Amino acid sequence: MIQGTPVNIIVGSHVWVEDPEVAWIDGEVKEINGREATLITSQGKTIVVDITFIYPKDTEAPPAGVDDMTKLAYLHEPGVLHNLACRFALNEIYTYTGNILIAVNPFRRLPHLYDIHMMEQYKGAAFGELSPHLFAVADTCYRAMIHEQGRQSILVSGESGAGKTETTKMLMRYLAFMGGRSSTEGRTVEQQVLESNPVLEAFGNAKTVKNNNSSRFGKFVEIQFDKHGKISGAAVRTYLLERSRVCQVSDPERNYHCFYMLCAAPPEEVKKFKLGDPGTFRYLNQSNCYEVANVDDAREYLETRNAMDIVGISQEEQDAIFRVVSAILHLGNIDFTKGKEVDSSKLKDEKSHYHLQTAAELLMCNEKALEDSLCKRVIVTPDGNITKPLDPDSAALSRDALAKTVYSRLFDWIVEKINSSIGQDPNASSLIGVLDIYGFESFKINRYIMHVFKMEQEEYTREEINWSYVEFVDNQDVLDLIEKKPGGIIALLDEACMFPKSTHETFAQKMYQTYKGHKRFSKPKLARTDFTINHYAGDVTYLADQFLDKNKDYVVAEHQALLYASKCTFVANLFPPLPEETSKQSKFSSIGTRFKQQLQALMETLNTTEPHYIRCVKPNAVLKPGIFENFNILNQLRCGVSEILPQLNTQQLQIICKVSPTNNVLPWQGVLEAIRISCAGYPTKKTFDEFLDRFGVLAPDALDGSDEKTACVAICDKMGLKGYQIGKAKVFLRAGQMAELDARRTEV
Ligand code: ATP
Ligand code: MG
Repeated sequence: MIQGTPVNIIVGSHVWVEDPEVAWIDGEVKEINGREATLITSQGKTIVVDITFIYPKDTEAPPAGVDDMTKLAYLHEPGVLHNLACRFALNEIYTYTGNILIAVNPFRRLPHLYDIHMMEQYKGAAFGELSPHLFAVADTCYRAMIHEQGRQSILVSGESGAGKTETTKMLMRYLAFMGGRSSTEGRTVEQQVLESNPVLEAFGNAKTVKNNNSSRFGKFVEIQFDKHGKISGAAVRTYLLERSRVCQVSDPERNYHCFYMLCAAPPEEVKKFKLGDPGTFRYLNQSNCYEVANVDDAREYLETRNAMDIVGISQEEQDAIFRVVSAILHLGNIDFTKGKEVDSSKLKDEKSHYHLQTAAELLMCNEKALEDSLCKRVIVTPDGNITKPLDPDSAALSRDALAKTVYSRLFDWIVEKINSSIGQDPNASSLIGVLDIYGFESFKINRYIMHVFKMEQEEYTREEINWSYVEFVDNQDVLDLIEKKPGGIIALLDEACMFPKSTHETFAQKMYQTYKGHKRFSKPKLARTDFTINHYAGDVTYLADQFLDKNKDYVVAEHQALLYASKCTFVANLFPPLPEETSKQSKFSSIGTRFKQQLQALMETLNTTEPHYIRCVKPNAVLKPGIFENFNILNQLRCGVSEILPQLNTQQLQIICKVSPTNNVLPWQGVLEAIRISCAGYPTKKTFDEFLDRFGVLAPDALDGSDEKTACVAICDKMGLKGYQIGKAKVFLRAGQMAELDARRTEV
């Protein structure tokens, strides 16, 4: 708990107390007996609670909430939660915590909130002058770029469905509004930047349990500006598309949107791409979900085509892209059965032959070569190459590997194309980067916490008061467990991936053996492949299922050769031959390792920018408007796992193995953690005026004849406060002192 010293609670105090159903309820203290307090809750119930679990409630807080958490008299968990709830009820979805913006997903369109008039209003307005808004963050960022430091970034975090992508898009719209050119001719850079979103979403987003439009990749958009503050170029970088979704979908989720869009295309196109009912394709019919509420795939198809035009993907290229998309579906329908030789396989039936033929036709590659690449494997030996048949299960795996590889190469191609057609400005004098880091519940930036520190420190310095740093928890042992080379989990994973016979079971066994007795690692009871890491703020259970598969990212040589030989240049270009000198060893690159490198580069970029933060919050798990689930939200605000772990590793782990759905601990960069830091110093800051207004009654004579500052000191001293500080314009109180003064005020 953050704050609250029970000594401040007296009969008549208004308080918050923990409740198993709604997290926190408020009430009034009627009686205190030793450690026991009797309360009447606001619902009229009488309850008796241990006094240590009671926290003071600010009776003077405005009913509509405050627009900045730092204005709360009591910065504690129930206070923060209540404030968000009051605001949410009034559709005020944005709230500041200092200069961090908290955005609660409304799950309903609020068009007026983002229209052009709104943009006009925020343009040039001082931060904090208008209601909290993402436009205010974007505007501050834009102005800082122009006037101070040329490189800025906005980091948008939050769990899946919290609204990161929507927020990112609105930020980009605002920046396009500020930095756009007035010309209406042709395609402008800013238009292309904006239209890259629907294209990337068509190929990289999918319906999941948590979000109907979940980004299955991370995205960093760097918008470049010239010296007049006009957009002059942009670069989109994406991170780690979820490959396994291409051939594995669990009910009630969907595969990537583009598959369903193409099946819903106008009839002549469906015919051209040899498609039909999505229910006839294995890669789609593993789940019973084909439609998304309020989404018309047919319309989305046309809109995607249109957006592709704008970002500069030609008609021929678009046709090739959709041919490849269709080919993947046909590939998925090829079945295998036992062949004549031992451990060999052949196509199962006529239907499989049809799909093989269609896939080959769409990919413009040789049908027989395609079949061989699925059913056989060439093994390089010192005596030359040997062709070895694959059994039906291995052939199916080979088919899925091909589908995943083709899809991820296609995705990378689209990103590259967007970048080359928008164009980079080598002379850009400044840039704003917008980071939308997906689904795995958080994106940890050590600097975030440093930033909170800095803000606090700056304020203390401005006010010329003394303060000292808060100590951090030492978490070196968790870091070692995850990233130590050799011997850490990532290293074991890489090792397992190199070894052809590894399965997730053997990998899990290896971990169980290696980390037996490790105080940060445990094997959940009855688990065969799960494992638990005891992070600083709680246990997180990871699922090792599909763990290896998700980490593997190599292209089978036969697949490479097959597609490079395609008569379609588009397809052939997706598979450029590897340079000769690339050894077998380095051909293999584990996703974990590659991702780590990509993130390192991202961190380096971010480190050269001035960061701004938006933390998105998902108010409920049913994705509906008007529902504010206290526990759910607290979980998002509460947990500080990610503050403590360097993001590289947490992220790798969370992406590669999904956090167990039964586990409530969602690593999130905690808003409350940030508040905890503030509380370790002087959580309550009141200007002399505010202070005297509220507490003048405690020492009415203190005001006589003396200046405000002296009067404040007189009140604090009379009340016997220790350790508080007086700045140039504000009184700084330690945790609990506000409650103490309020209690005394109630007595008066
Ligand atoms: P993921 O990590 O799964 O990609 P996300 O944080 O990017 O999730 P979004 O896709 O941005 O989440 O938001 C989920 C849905 O919530 C949106 O499709 C939209 O329906 C709704 N939503 C989010 N933000 C807003 C908003 N500001 N106004 C209205 N609706 C919103
Ligand atoms: Mg998203």
